[in-house]
Amino acid sequence: MAGVAYIGVGSNLGDAFENCLQGVIAVIGNERATFVALSSLYRTSPVSPVAQADFLNCALKIAWRSTPRELLSFLREVETGLGRDRAVRFGPRTLDLDILFFDDLVLDAPGLTIPHPRLHQRKFALVPCLEIDPNLIHPRFRRPLVEYLNEIGDEQKIASFGRIPADRIGVAGAVNTEGNTSG
Ligand code: ADP
Ligand code: MG
Repeated sequence: MAGVAYIGVGSNLGDAFENCLQGVIAVIGNERATFVALSSLYRTSPVSPVAQADFLNCALKIAWRSTPRELLSFLREVETGLGRDRAVRFGPRTLDLDILFFDDLVLDAPGLTIPHPRLHQRKFALVPCLEIDPNLIHPRFRRPLVEYLNEIGDEQKIASFGRIPADRIGVAGAVNTEGNTSG
């Protein structure tokens, strides 16, 4: 099974920009992955019971030539390779890679829920996905993603943090949306 996946990328430990960059490079460097789009970066407040630093977040859209389960295990490898220590659940992390969407798949499997079960409650996931495709529909609830954003309160802070330059990820003309290849 192959499909198009949105991957949530986040870091709030060490050099968060560099961690997100290296995470993106590792994902799109895999032979099963083809780059489609990368959102800009956002600085976001942590949504966690554990006090910790702000995050940098972005969303990466790829075509994946294998199963969602294989994608999850590959993302865990990349997290581990970049030094992720899972000691504290919801704690600070050098790199968090989540499967947000996989085509229109709705999946409830042990250790893998797609769409990501909390993405519609998190600005740091919604905003970058909507930047890539403002017309996204949540496949489980069949509701436009943009509607969830309007229901989240001001306690979740999010601010633009610029783009990862296309040449840093080795993708000529890498842009925030698929339609815009001129910038
Ligand atoms: P979170 O990303 O929710 O803050 P973790 O990265 O520690 O927390 O992930 C916790 C668990 O979530 C992982 O062990 C993974 O098996 C599970 N999980 C379930 N669905 C997904 C998904 N769509 N993407 C990534 N992880 C998922
Ligand atoms: Mg995760």
